[in-house]
Amino acid sequence: MKARVKEIHKNFTIVDAHLDLLYDIEKKRKMGQNKIIEREYLPEFREGGVNIVVSSIYIDEDFIPELALRKALDQISAFYWELEESGDKIIFAKNVADIDKALKEDKIGILLSFEGVEPLMNDINLLKIFYELGVRGVGLTWSRRNFAADGCSFGHVKGKENGLSDFGRQVVKKAQQLGMFIDVSHLNDAGFWDVMEITTKPVIASHSNCRALNGIMRNLSNDQIRALAKTGGVIGINAVSTIVAESNADIKALANHVDHLRNVAGVEHIGLGFDFCDKIFKSNSFDKTTKLGDSYDVINGHKNIYLLTQELLSRGYTDDELRLIYGENFLKVFKSTLK
Ligand SMILES: [Zn+2]
Repeated sequence: MKARVKEIHKNFTIVDAHLDLLYDIEKKRKMGQNKIIEREYLPEFREGGVNIVVSSIYIDEDFIPELALRKALDQISAFYWELEESGDKIIFAKNVADIDKALKEDKIGILLSFEGVEPLMNDINLLKIFYELGVRGVGLTWSRRNFAADGCSFGHVKGKENGLSDFGRQVVKKAQQLGMFIDVSHLNDAGFWDVMEITTKPVIASHSNCRALNGIMRNLSNDQIRALAKTGGVIGINAVSTIVAESNADIKALANHVDHLRNVAGVEHIGLGFDFCDKIFKSNSFDKTTKLGDSYDVINGHKNIYLLTQELLSRGYTDDELRLIYGENFLKVFKSTLK
C-alpha cells in the first residue's frame, strides 16, 4: 500500500483549488519576512506531491468596504514580490500553457482567485484590471453580502437573502467573457441558482462539501451538486472540520463526502479544495471568534494528504478515479474556461 500511495503522489497531477496563500504572505511580508512561499509552503507542497494551487484573494471584515481594493492589491503585490524572489520555483499560472509549463518543469503553478468580489465594489471595469494582474477565478462572495450577491451567512446571523444583483450577473458574464472561472463556494442558495441559470461555462465550487452529510448552508445540496455537475463543473472537497461534519470530523468523514459526490454526480466532478487553515490561523485570525491555536484541519497540511489517499484506496477507489479526483477534473475546467 505504501509504495502505491507514494507512486500516486509522485505521478499524479495534484490540484488544491483553495488555499488562503496570499492572505498569509501579505501579512507576513508586512512583518518583514520574505520568501514565505519558498520557505514555508514549497516543502509541504513537494512532500504532498501538490503541483497546482489556487490562492484566494480574501479580504478581512475590518477592511470592508473602503480598503478592500487596496488589500487585494496589497496581496497581489506581495505575491509579485514572492515571484521576484522565488520565480525559479513558482510559476504564476494565468493560462493553460503556464499550467503545462509548471507540470513539465516540476514547479508549483499558482492561480489567483477572488473569494468575494469586494475589491471591485460595484465597478465592473475593475474586473478587467484584476484580469490583467493575473486573477483567473471569481468566487462571487465570501459568506457575507457584497454588491454582487449574498453569501451563505455561515457563522453569522441571517438577514434577508437575495440572489445575484444586476452587478453580480454582470460579473459572471464579463468574467466568463474574459476567461475567468466562476466559483460558487460561500454563495447562498438563491445566488447559486442564479449562476446556474446564466452560466455558459463549467462552474466550480472550489471548497465545499455535501449538505446531505453536514447540513450547513456552506455545503451543497444534492440538487446543487447535480446542477453544478451538469455545467461540467467540479466540487473541491473541504478539509475544514466544521465543514466536514458537525461532530467527529476526521479523514473518514472527509472521505464520506467523496463517496457521496461520487454517488450523486460521478467521479468526474470531484476535486480537492482543502482550505487548510491551521497554518494561517497560527499567525493571523480571520474573525473575532477564531482563537489562535485552535485546530480546524482534519488533515494536518499538504504533507499529510497521503492519509486521504490511503483511506480512498481502502474504499476501493481505482488509480484512474483518483487521478481524476486529485487533479485532472480541475485541470479540465481550467482548460475550458481560461484563455
Ligand atoms: Zn472559504
